[in-house]
This record gives sequence, C-alpha cells and structure tokens, in this order.
Amino acid sequence: MSIKFGPAGLGPVNEAISNLEEYHKLGFKACEIAFTYVIYIKKKEDALKIGKAAKKFDIQLSIHAPYWINLNSVDKEKIEKSKQRILKCCEIGTYLGAKRVVFHPGYYGKMDKDETYENIKREIIDIQKIIKQKKYTPKLAPETTGKINVFGSIDEIKKLSQETKISFCIDFAHILARYKNYNFKEILKKFKNYKDIHIHFSGIEYGEKGEKHHKLTPEIEIEKLISNLPKNLDITVINESPDTIGDSIKTIEIYRGQEQ
Ligand SMILES: [Zn+2]
Repeated sequence: MSIKFGPAGLGPVNEAISNLEEYHKLGFKACEIAFTYVIYIKKKEDALKIGKAAKKFDIQLSIHAPYWINLNSVDKEKIEKSKQRILKCCEIGTYLGAKRVVFHPGYYGKMDKDETYENIKREIIDIQKIIKQKKYTPKLAPETTGKINVFGSIDEIKKLSQETKISFCIDFAHILARYKNYNFKEILKKFKNYKDIHIHFSGIEYGEKGEKHHKLTPEIEIEKLISNLPKNLDITVINESPDTIGDSIKTIEIYRGQEQ
C-alpha cells in the first residue's frame, strides 16, 4: 500500500550519499542504481555505507544489471558470464540492501520462442539456487523489453516470474515500443496477483522493430499511468528518461495533484 517514485541513476560512489540526501529532499522514495555499463560499486564497505544512507533517507534501492546479459546464448561461456554479472549485482545488492536486480534476460537468436523461454527459465532457476546458497537478498526482476527480436514480451515475463517465483519489471516505454500501443489498466491487470510491482517509465522513440531511444516523459502519459495504478499494491516507478530527475519531480507533482 505504498507508491514510490524515483530516478534511474545514483551517480558515482563519492557522490552517492549526498545524492541520496538530495533525492530525499526532492521527495523521491526510490532509486535504481545503473550498473548498465559497469558494476561500479566494487567495495563492500562502500556498498554498506550507501545502503545505510539510503535507509536513513528512506529511499528504496534497486539495481539495473549490465546490458551484456544473454541467458540464451549458443555460447556456454557467454551464458556463464551473464550469470556471473547478475550474481555480482546480487552480491553488491545485498550489501546495499537493494530490493531488486533488474535485467534484460536475453535474445531469441535463431531459436524459437518456446526454446528460448525454456533455456532462460533453466538458467534463472540455477541462479536462484546460488542466490539461496550465498544468502543474497535482492529479488531477480527480468524486464519487459522494447525490441521485437529480444526476449521479454509481457506474457514471457509474467510466465517466467510465475514459474520461477521471481519478481519482474514492467517497462511501459518498452511495451509501447514493442507493441506500438499500451493500455495501463489491461497490462496491470495481468499482474494483479502480485502485491508488489516494479515499473520503469519514460517517453520513447520507436520504429517497426521497436525501441530506438528513451525520451522525455510526456505529462499526459504520466497522468494516465498514475490514474491507472492500483491503490492497494506496493508500487515503485523508476523514471528512465534522459532527464530522470526532472521527470521524477514532475511525476511526483502530478501524483500529488491527483491525490487532492
Ligand atoms: Zn527499463
């Protein structure tokens, strides 16, 4: 029964704690740390300190894992490296107290969709086993993806999270790019059995094959999203636009406006 808004990106290690304080002042309650190009928080002591500050400033952390992940590669070594990247995020995420590790699970390549699904599911079950052994605490959250040749349709992500008992991330910008259309209510209804929902949101430029790049979030779309969010769930909305802070501020203003 809560709603948390916040940006994608925490900034470099030496600015992380002051950024968290600033985010707190802006009313943010969530932040997704971008390990998209590199897992840049390397030391356990740094992660612990940042995690402590996030707690103090009441900001729920999540992690976006590196883009270089493919759990459906024909190359076994690539799968292994992908798993190691996800597990490293889970390790650092444990020190940070991060709630989720969001990632793009993989590509269809030349395989059909069912085979791709089974391969990815098998690898996720294996990652889950290691997470349990190592006592890592973040939940895995595969994301709906924005390109038609990339694994991550709404139904694939839903089925994967159901069958492997993991979390998920609904990226509405990606859904718009993938399907050329979206209906917030209908999509959220598909996930109505979950108490806790992680959302990515922004504007997006797209073509025939799907996403081109994220862009500023149109106000009208923010209004539509907010008015369709279920009131009885725990919801996190991470803004991924090029102005993630500005758009998060705008989102909170619109949310407060609708509350009155
Ligand atoms: Zn996203």
